[in-house]
Amino acid sequence: MSKKFKGSCLCGNIRFSVNEFREKVANFHCTMCRKFNGAAFGTLVGVKGLHWLSGNNLLKEFIVPNGTTRTFCSNCGSSLGFRVKGEPPENIELAISTFDVDIPLKVDAQIYTAYKANWCELQPELPVYSEGRAG
Ligand SMILES: [Zn+2]
Repeated sequence: MSKKFKGSCLCGNIRFSVNEFREKVANFHCTMCRKFNGAAFGTLVGVKGLHWLSGNNLLKEFIVPNGTTRTFCSNCGSSLGFRVKGEPPENIELAISTFDVDIPLKVDAQIYTAYKANWCELQPELPVYSEGRAG
């Protein structure tokens, strides 16, 4: 019964599918996510059953000074994912914007808002965490 949700980078060389999503999906307002995504915030989601279908040779990783790993397409520059320091590759959180299909999720938190851009308005209906969700 598991449905595959497919996504890709901008140039289309990197394609992936996932079987399931973890329940939490947040807008990350930290400076690193802003820069990495070239956007007001990054929106990331944990996944289960991730398969890279093509373009594995173009996947590139950048390790930020805080130890988090950022995965992107070395051909088109699309931001694809994020990993907490020390987490194995399968625990990547994917940039939700890279999915090519509707996915059964809603953003449920706004995190690291202490670092948000002054020109970005928060969504009043969503919980706000100045740092991470847990603390
Ligand atoms: Zn690409």
